[in-house]
Amino acid sequence: MTLKDRIAQAREQMAQAALKAGRNPRDILLCAACKAQNSETVRQAAEYDIDLFGENRMQEMAVHLADKAYQSKPMHFIGHLQTNKVRQVVGQAALIQSVGSLRLLNAIDKAAAQKEITQDVLIEVNIGQEAGKAGVTVGELPFLLEKASELPNIRLRGLMAIPPPGPEKETRQYFARMFALQEQVKGKAGANSRIDTLSLGMSDSFVWAILEGATLVRVGRQIFGERV
Ligand SMILES: *Cc1c(COP(=O)(O)O)cnc(C)c1O
Repeated sequence: MTLKDRIAQAREQMAQAALKAGRNPRDILLCAACKAQNSETVRQAAEYDIDLFGENRMQEMAVHLADKAYQSKPMHFIGHLQTNKVRQVVGQAALIQSVGSLRLLNAIDKAAAQKEITQDVLIEVNIGQEAGKAGVTVGELPFLLEKASELPNIRLRGLMAIPPPGPEKETRQYFARMFALQEQVKGKAGANSRIDTLSLGMSDSFVWAILEGATLVRVGRQIFGERV
């Protein structure tokens, strides 16, 4: 299959899942997770039916930006972000999906203030309560939400999670828990937030994520092939 066909196939599966869940397929964004892809491949993917790109690695993001590979598509940062690298991402990424600490949140706010912009962010939740995994625990979430609402150059858009790999039933339970958390966040969101993005699901799980209410899925291997 060509890249174009694989993207069309992912879209079709997304639409099927949306319809099965009684949702409008247009309400779910396809994020092409382009780690380890070169600028030529990214540029090609930008011609097809994806909504945006997701970058994990700073260095690759810098190359893709320099090569203008995203064309007119937005880019989200979805990987681990070091505090001292924040300035390179703020203002470039339409959304930083992977904010899992107060330290990082503060650094993003500061960099956004310097650039005189508002940076959209998601808070990453370690929903599987895995040791050593990125993201805040469910218990820490209210604290970070409160802090986010106090920072003038941050706009909170919702939550993101990467649950531990597992069978459908277990994975969907994690996604359902994230959906419930997102609803709670909506209920008490501050004035400087717009809670409309729930980022869940990758190649092996995006259909389940849509069934459980995801508004954005991050698909890598199914679109670009196995990473070598
Ligand atoms: C790589 C990656 C994805 C995509 O994973 P695939 O299994 O390749 O679809 C999604 N989200 C994040 C944060 C990733 O790092």
